[in-house]
Amino acid sequence: MGKIVAANWKMNLRRRSACELAAALKTDGRECWLFPGFPLIAPVADTLIGGKVKLGAQDVSPEQDGAFTGDVSAEMLEDAGCEMVLVGHSERRHIHGEDDALLLAKLKRAVEAGLKPLYCVGETLKQREGGKATEVVKSHLAILSEMGGADRACAVAYEPVWAIGTGETATPEQAGEMHAFIRSELTKQGLGQLPILYGGSVKPDNAHALMTQPHVDGVLVGGASLKLDSLRAIDDIAREIG
Ligand code: PEP
Repeated sequence: MGKIVAANWKMNLRRRSACELAAALKTDGRECWLFPGFPLIAPVADTLIGGKVKLGAQDVSPEQDGAFTGDVSAEMLEDAGCEMVLVGHSERRHIHGEDDALLLAKLKRAVEAGLKPLYCVGETLKQREGGKATEVVKSHLAILSEMGGADRACAVAYEPVWAIGTGETATPEQAGEMHAFIRSELTKQGLGQLPILYGGSVKPDNAHALMTQPHVDGVLVGGASLKLDSLRAIDDIAREIG
């Protein structure tokens, strides 16, 4: 498999801008992964029909159906055209206080419904400065061993919290070191084949250095994925590296 480019659009774009972006990527014949906000999923899915771009959601309920106002179930996402779902993104862990028990329930639910989780892990600046980065990432990865069917995830993303949306990027060496650690932890769980993406202020000017590190199988891109030019440029770099 070539390098993967995944776009986390977060709470951005509208139907028109999202569909224009998606249509351009489809026409280019690109194979990237898009994670639009909930109301954009269905129109973007329609736009992508016949192309190679894959679609995912940014969150999923741990519940199946019923009285859970405001939640969106894995079955609904699947029905709307999603193949994948982000679980464990730092904005869910830190802004919404999602803990390991909830994330484990979401992972299990997603896999049961046939969605492939893109599971995000990563340490805060305080944890890194306190020498706890690998310990934190190891604890995030540990829940994969409890979920069953973790081999059905689409990828793990290493996203140092201090590098997300801040303009700060892990150096290629920092990313490479953590990716090697993640690979060894995944291998111990029999999940050594899962792709590991790097996320945190990836842009066209740092994408090459990051994606050429060993064990960096692609990138999860937030801000730079909202503009066609920068997303295309990052995807071109991914294709070039192969
Ligand atoms: C993200 O939220 O997954 C992310 C990596 O964001 P950004 O690229 O904007 O740092």
